[in-house]
Amino acid sequence: MKDTKAIPYKIYLEESELPTTWYNVRADMKNKPAPLLNPGTLQPMKAEELAPVFCEELVKQELDNDTRYYPIPQEILDFYKMYRPSPLVRAYCLEKKLGTPAKIYYKFEGNNTSGSHKLNSAIAQAYYAKKQGLKGVTTETGAGQWGTALSMACSYFDLDCKVYMVKVSYEQKPFRREVMRTYGASVVPSPSNTTNVGRAILEQFPGTTGSLGCAISEAVEVAVSNPGYRYVLGSVLNQVLLHQSVIGVETKIAMDKYGIVPDVIIGCAGGGSNLGGLIAPFMGEKLRGEKDYQFIAVEPASCPSFTRGKFAYDFADTGKVCPMAKMYTLGSGFIPAPNHAGGLRYHGMSSILSQLYHDGYMEARAVEQTSVFKAAEEFARVEGILPAPESSHAIRVAIDEALKCKETGEEKTILFGLTGTGYFDMVAYEKFHDGLMTDYIPTDEDLQKGFDGIPKIDL
Ligand SMILES: *Cc1c(COP(=O)(O)O)cnc(C)c1O
Repeated sequence: MKDTKAIPYKIYLEESELPTTWYNVRADMKNKPAPLLNPGTLQPMKAEELAPVFCEELVKQELDNDTRYYPIPQEILDFYKMYRPSPLVRAYCLEKKLGTPAKIYYKFEGNNTSGSHKLNSAIAQAYYAKKQGLKGVTTETGAGQWGTALSMACSYFDLDCKVYMVKVSYEQKPFRREVMRTYGASVVPSPSNTTNVGRAILEQFPGTTGSLGCAISEAVEVAVSNPGYRYVLGSVLNQVLLHQSVIGVETKIAMDKYGIVPDVIIGCAGGGSNLGGLIAPFMGEKLRGEKDYQFIAVEPASCPSFTRGKFAYDFADTGKVCPMAKMYTLGSGFIPAPNHAGGLRYHGMSSILSQLYHDGYMEARAVEQTSVFKAAEEFARVEGILPAPESSHAIRVAIDEALKCKETGEEKTILFGLTGTGYFDMVAYEKFHDGLMTDYIPTDEDLQKGFDGIPKIDL
């Protein structure tokens, strides 16, 4: 242990120390993530097939399993400087409260108006759309964090932004909707009658409150049928994990500077982008056989893609208009019970993380909602930050690991990703405080319904 410098409460890097490249973990994976497939031909998607949907440069990034480092364009670095570096915080107060010998660190990505890490990729995607001379982009949003981040990024580059927002959130989260409109985005509740796929879903399920998979189908349809528009996605895709690697690279620079070596790295997992980004450079070392770390993905027990899902080719969206991806999945028809961590309700998972999990490089845990909010509150009371429900899944497991250290006396160093703030989630906190929050866990029969919709293809 070369613990030479005293560790400050917050580690901020100088501007000159900030990352200038994204790290592409695929370059170091022996088993590459399985390629996206054309649902018609079942052949790997080629760049020219993806080009009507995604920006050219992003297609290149999506398909590139080999380039280890991508220089971050100057325009994006300039934007990052408005809110990066994000602080790496030593959770001294939480450690004391828990009475643990463990050292706990968290990387806090909630220090920007969108309130989450999603801005890291939103600004990159908006930049490439602008560079290509496009008019605008379309997307879906669940709880609203991605839509908010994207609307900020689009207004910065003067691009039109159309957001399909899962209906239940559109109705229940008017504040996020209005933040998006403040940044100039148009926001449509999904399913809507503005698209063929939306109309079909409404006809089949008149009372539906929507799902991410359905909103994706609508946003893609609008992108491919309007010249000058492309679709952008806030998680799951390889390109998004690439952009989010800025979190991990920055963390690693800060930790190396102070000689800190994490034993356990924990992140919440919805589509896998923050976790994939945080662990990227550390996973690279593990894949190259240089170091060993324990990685833990944390997901809600109500939407357990890793811990109870199948590793299979599946549709990315309800309308089955997107390419198929090989991933841990609950089936594209799986409609999760309303869960207060809206950002963790996607039925699938990043192909990169799915492959790494399948190959035994990382673990996963599913946690119940009320225990997550207990951890959130415990954290808020000593560390000050009001965490997003999504982020609090990571807090739950970080606390659990720290308490294990208390029993065994191990002085492990724990790092977790604190992805965002929870100011727009106070209805969920209210339910928790009033004792009205429930822990819905799908039965095997519930899950089977989703699995039945996974296409049966032999490859
Ligand atoms: C969207 C979101 C997540 C989950 O998405 P990933 O792609 O799995 O990172 C986690 N935390 C917050 C605050 C989010 O907004």
